Amino acid sequence: MLDDEAVESVYRILSHEMPGRTPDAKGPKGQPDAFRSCISCMLSAQSLDRNTAKASRAVFALATTPEAMLELDDRDIAAAIKPCGLYNNKTRSIRKFCETLLAEHGGVVPDTREGLMSLPGIGRKCADIVMSFTFGKDVIAVDTHVHRVCNRIGLTNAKTADRTAQQLEERTPEWALRDGHFWLIQFGKRVCTARAPKCPTCPVNDVCEFYAATRANS
Ligand code: SF4
Repeated sequence: MLDDEAVESVYRILSHEMPGRTPDAKGPKGQPDAFRSCISCMLSAQSLDRNTAKASRAVFALATTPEAMLELDDRDIAAAIKPCGLYNNKTRSIRKFCETLLAEHGGVVPDTREGLMSLPGIGRKCADIVMSFTFGKDVIAVDTHVHRVCNRIGLTNAKTADRTAQQLEERTPEWALRDGHFWLIQFGKRVCTARAPKCPTCPVNDVCEFYAATRANS
């Protein structure tokens, strides 16, 4: 893994090269409130973005609160979210999530990681996404792009996205926490892409561990 000085340098470069958080950054998949952000994030498991969006639109046309969701028949929820797959499991998760949210939080989505992760169906990734986007907290949420980029560069050395998130929390300078997710995700889409990373022109190739290893082996 990179040392602290190199980590600082990577974030400095990304902060100049990539766009950060915008004032209108919304919840996962553009959802307008924490309840819908959590449900949408649950629906996104093993689903393409466009299918998640389709399922989210359909289910939120039926209900946008935990009370209203619980009044629906399971078959109606499952039919609405069918496009995102695993719809029977996801229907059960949605029901358990709504029941717990009402029983333990009065129907209000908590704004802490611990509170969010205490809800059925919400893991670290969803919790961090909701914290960052919906509640505007200084948290680097780790999706597939962020996970890939961090472990290539050497900001982290983790096999899972959850472990990457933990290491980022420990190693990211405080000034970079607010925009870090946004820089890293754009960098992953524009430069450090999954299949053909643009290493020769990459602005952090001086410190990148993946690039150093590739050159050493060529
Ligand atoms: S040098 Fe290549 S692998 Fe490393 S961060 Fe840049 S694009 Fe990604």
